[in-house]
Amino acid sequence: MTKEILIGNVKIGGDNPVVIQSMTNTKTEDYMATLNQINQLFKAGCELVRVSVPTIEAAESLKVITKNSPIPIIADIHFDYKLAIKSIQNGAKKVRINPGNIGSEEKVKEVVKVAKEYNVPIRVGANSGSIPKELEHLDKVDALCEAALKEVRILEKYGFNNIVISVKSSDVKETIKAYEKISTLTNYPLHIGVTEAGTYEWSIVKSSIALGHLLYKNIGDTIRVSIAGDPIYEVIIAKKILISLGLRQGLEVIACPTCSRTEINVEKWAKLVEERFSNINKNIKIAILGCVVNGIGEGKDADIGIAGVKNGFVLFYKGKIINEYKEEEILEKIEALIEQEVKE
Ligand code: SF4
Repeated sequence: MTKEILIGNVKIGGDNPVVIQSMTNTKTEDYMATLNQINQLFKAGCELVRVSVPTIEAAESLKVITKNSPIPIIADIHFDYKLAIKSIQNGAKKVRINPGNIGSEEKVKEVVKVAKEYNVPIRVGANSGSIPKELEHLDKVDALCEAALKEVRILEKYGFNNIVISVKSSDVKETIKAYEKISTLTNYPLHIGVTEAGTYEWSIVKSSIALGHLLYKNIGDTIRVSIAGDPIYEVIIAKKILISLGLRQGLEVIACPTCSRTEINVEKWAKLVEERFSNINKNIKIAILGCVVNGIGEGKDADIGIAGVKNGFVLFYKGKIINEYKEEEILEKIEALIEQEVKE
């Protein structure tokens, strides 16, 4: 089991639930835009959010952001140790630094001093794109782990062990192997993700394979699905990965692939149901099926199901038919059953 650490009011590691993390892509200097995005991410289920701090103005902006954010802020720092210190002083609850590009160890020591004072953890780690020269001769997986552990040793040298580690690669198999390996070498909490996973579809595929595999093996304390696009999808996908693995309670919508028997637009109705009931925090499975011929059988594992008929839907609950309803009535009927489920 990994060591438990605290990021603001969020506990990670140990036997705490896996936490969903994302990152803003607004200019941090623009605190209004950044807070706006953080609030959207929070509403979608994000529990920790990282913002990059490339300038002193961004570090100053953190003062307002951290005060008003509903979730702890993680500051992402490269090169300038003073920005890390300022970010902590301005309310960041965790910092992500790369001791390798912060400069001298003296500077790392200064960051450690302030992080200790504020009880703020530091994430260190390696990305496949930034393996130090002296480790390039190693196998990629070994190099990722060694690069991360090297950074850990620098922090430990100064008596600091409030650490989170990542060893991300943009390659799925490398990511899996690197995290499997590092999890046997350390008990610091692990932030897992595939780096530069790509646009929407590639990211879903790569992240689901890599994170799914690792989480199934109990590896990973915080997760990020990195997407080249709106970060709101990072949170939605992360949540679905966790629900699929039974690591988080929530709504699961199953839908048939449709065939010539289909009486309804399954895709449209599945999306409508998903959107309307996405905030449920209990395990409820809803089936959306194109017809009753195979539909009820195919959806019998679901709590609630609808199957298309000529003029509407058949609604079933726990595998038993309740009644037939028209299009305009069906969402309310589902809602009533969900309320009943949630109360139980
Ligand atoms: S539930 Fe009906 S419409 Fe959907 S795939 Fe099965 S047979 Fe076809």
